[in-house]
Amino acid sequence: MSGLGKGITAASVGRILKNRGYGITAVKIDPYLNIDAGTMNPGQHGEVFVLSDGSEVDLDLGNYERFLDIDLSSAHNITTGKVYRTVIDKERRGDFLGETVQIIPHITDEIKECIRFAAEKEVPGQKMADICLVEIGGTVGDIESMPFLEAVRQMRGELLLEDTVIIHVTLIPEDTMGDLKTKPTQHSVKALRELGLHADIIVGRSDRPIGSHTKRKISAFCDLPLKGVISAATAPDIYQVPLELEKEGLGDVLSEHLGLEKRKADISWYHQVTQEYTERVNVAIVSKYGIEDVYLSIKEALKHAGRALSTEVRITWLDSERYEQKQLAEFDGILVPGGFGKRGMEGKVDAIEWARTTGTPFLGLCLGFQMAVVEYSRHVLGWGDATSAEMGEGKHVIAILPEQYDVTELGGTMRLGNSPITLKDGTLAMKVYGQKEIEERHRHRYEVDPRYIPDLENAGLVFSGAFQNRMEICELPNHPFFMATQFHPEFRSRPTRPSPPFIGFVKACHEKNGGRAR
Ligand code: GLN
Repeated sequence: MSGLGKGITAASVGRILKNRGYGITAVKIDPYLNIDAGTMNPGQHGEVFVLSDGSEVDLDLGNYERFLDIDLSSAHNITTGKVYRTVIDKERRGDFLGETVQIIPHITDEIKECIRFAAEKEVPGQKMADICLVEIGGTVGDIESMPFLEAVRQMRGELLLEDTVIIHVTLIPEDTMGDLKTKPTQHSVKALRELGLHADIIVGRSDRPIGSHTKRKISAFCDLPLKGVISAATAPDIYQVPLELEKEGLGDVLSEHLGLEKRKADISWYHQVTQEYTERVNVAIVSKYGIEDVYLSIKEALKHAGRALSTEVRITWLDSERYEQKQLAEFDGILVPGGFGKRGMEGKVDAIEWARTTGTPFLGLCLGFQMAVVEYSRHVLGWGDATSAEMGEGKHVIAILPEQYDVTELGGTMRLGNSPITLKDGTLAMKVYGQKEIEERHRHRYEVDPRYIPDLENAGLVFSGAFQNRMEICELPNHPFFMATQFHPEFRSRPTRPSPPFIGFVKACHEKNGGRAR
């Protein structure tokens, strides 16, 4: 079921195999009808993650990129919408002339083709993958996921026995007496069997470790050897999960199933990502969504930067429509993230004004960048009606991107993905990045209206990064740390390679609180 940790489990399996020297790639299957996650409400499905190639995908791809340190592409997120669209387009072209087009074999063939294509697609920064992880979202028994499970069943028959392994992630709940219950696992294994699939490995998710008594029960009822039952207790930090699963023997069991030689795991990655905090900072994130998953990559990017500085970053989510200004004084830094629409906008502008005028470290991302420009226009330039064209009437210091004028469809049509940015010498941006040419990921429809740039600059706002005449970073010279980016640096942050603006921000928060110990 969703929220169980299938994505982290899949990413951890990848890490465990990568630590043994194998090239890994990963595919996420989302059985919904949307073509991609771009049009979905993040409040329901969590963050829309953006890849280098500009595809808007499920947040699990963010986990894969962070755990495996690879760059994925649109081919690595398969949805029912994509599969059906391809098959229906083929039917209209006449590719199946004379045939009745059906779920089996046409849809299942297309699914297998998509998996094979993604598995064989070269991933930048890595040789051709040896192993492809395929995570199937949803729950066994859902109508939506049936064609995908059927495709997997067929694929298993077509490949050699040792070329596939099925890992089933199940919930092991605790009853009121504190006993771990295996019945839900037994039932889902039965449901999987009815579809012709047998779980080779069961990863049991629970709040506390699963003992040998429970494991033996699962092994007996679900027809798999004891060593195939892996306990996955909730870990304090997701980057510890692969190590915990490794201790459970998952690496060896996987190697056995896949016919891999016994290799010793290189565990240096764990040393790089393990947290050892001596310091602490408190950061407020001001947004209209109170749900952490909406900003998963920001949460992770703060953690990556914090770890590099031995600093625990404690995050408080402030509702942009409800918080009170006096609350802001409690924090060492304020972050205003990306977002869409008018709701909560004024609260974001107020928080930015407060950060600017009190010398509190500030990091603005995408909408946070746009609101920083609106705030400066209103309160420094005195343009009281300054706003973004997205928000309604007023002086549009933030205007629609020219290439958006003729856009009529909303799916996949924003300015998306990687774009180069040139930084100005002698600026904070240049200091945090340490290089003049950078590349970051985007997802927006609006930008600073170029007509207002001279006025904003004359009033003291520094645009320290740009792509042609498109403003990408703004900052204030006489402030401990005031920086906002039109792009989303959080999408490129990795536990082993934290994002520079996040490092700069956390460092400034730490300096502000005078080095508070943990
Ligand atoms: N809504 C703004 C735009 O489309 C900002 C987008 C974002 O924050 N991702 O330009």
